[in-house]
Amino acid sequence: MKITKITATPVRVPRPQLFMSSLGKNLASENAVVEIDTDQGVTGVGEICSIWDRKGRGDAEDINDLLAEALTGRDPFRIAEIHGAMDSLLHRSYPAKAGIDMALYDIVGKSLKTPVYNLLGGMVRDRVLLSHSLSMGDPEEIGDYAANLVKQGYKTIKAKIGMDAESDEATVAAVRSKVGDDITIRVDANMGWKNPKEAVRNIKALEPYNLELVEQPLHYSDLEGLHHIREHVDTPIMADESVWTPSDAMACIKAGSVDIFNVYVSEAGGIFPGSKIFAIGEAARIPCIIGSMPELGIGTSAQAHLAFAMQNLGYGSDVNGFVYHSDDIINEKFSIEDGHLLPPPGPGLGVTLNRDKIEQYRIK
Ligand code: MG
Repeated sequence: MKITKITATPVRVPRPQLFMSSLGKNLASENAVVEIDTDQGVTGVGEICSIWDRKGRGDAEDINDLLAEALTGRDPFRIAEIHGAMDSLLHRSYPAKAGIDMALYDIVGKSLKTPVYNLLGGMVRDRVLLSHSLSMGDPEEIGDYAANLVKQGYKTIKAKIGMDAESDEATVAAVRSKVGDDITIRVDANMGWKNPKEAVRNIKALEPYNLELVEQPLHYSDLEGLHHIREHVDTPIMADESVWTPSDAMACIKAGSVDIFNVYVSEAGGIFPGSKIFAIGEAARIPCIIGSMPELGIGTSAQAHLAFAMQNLGYGSDVNGFVYHSDDIINEKFSIEDGHLLPPPGPGLGVTLNRDKIEQYRIK
């Protein structure tokens, strides 16, 4: 089988409400749809998902201007070899590589008439525990929002913090009082604290509210600072921005920085390198979760197939990016049951493109 054509189409899909974290505010996602055609009539789809710098629009240029021509003519079953080719052509740009990677897995799964999770070792669970994030804002309103999520079945709630210690504590206190003691609460500082001592002080102030974990308290490069925090608080520390790639995961382990990895299919460069982070974590006895940009339907499906197949998925995951958007660019609907995601249907990623929606949201 040979690749005959690769395209990336940027789309801007609105969100029903403003989402704010210490990284900034978002009212829409700028992602891109990747399509790979083959000489056997099988087409694979992928998604570029990124909130960082150039977003899906910029990453789409990496595919349309560079990778498309370079990868045309290659065998889409040679996923590892294509990753090697992409890495030698293009420094970083992991979300673009992930868009290609997802489409390759989709082609292989469709060709073999099997879901992608069967290409990753097969299912190790029948449903995936979900987490739902809360935008920053008025603490009482956030608490009410969290209580509503619990009514919908969510069992793990993530509060975005890291801007102001007083309002962070007010938010976590309001959420805890409105969701009760049986719901799991985690917090994500998104690199918002300036140094390890500030982080330790703020985490200790939040520990009475019983946190599952604290995500990325410091800048991604401060692995020693993360190690200091880990030594001085009881709550597990999870790396997000510090662990994009398998090499990042290794650096975190060497520095003893964190207890948990938050793995992103898009930031790792795809399902293939993402699964390597899980393997590295497993060898180091570090559980992983899967994080979200948030993705639309294609990217969510890619995360889901990984989530169903990885043994050391250890906590609730953000495999529900579609719920943060007002609409989607696929025809299928994912099933969430009692706060868990059910398997997407195969073969491949199990999604089909809605051409009308892509045209409606295409960035012109
Ligand atoms: Mg995060």
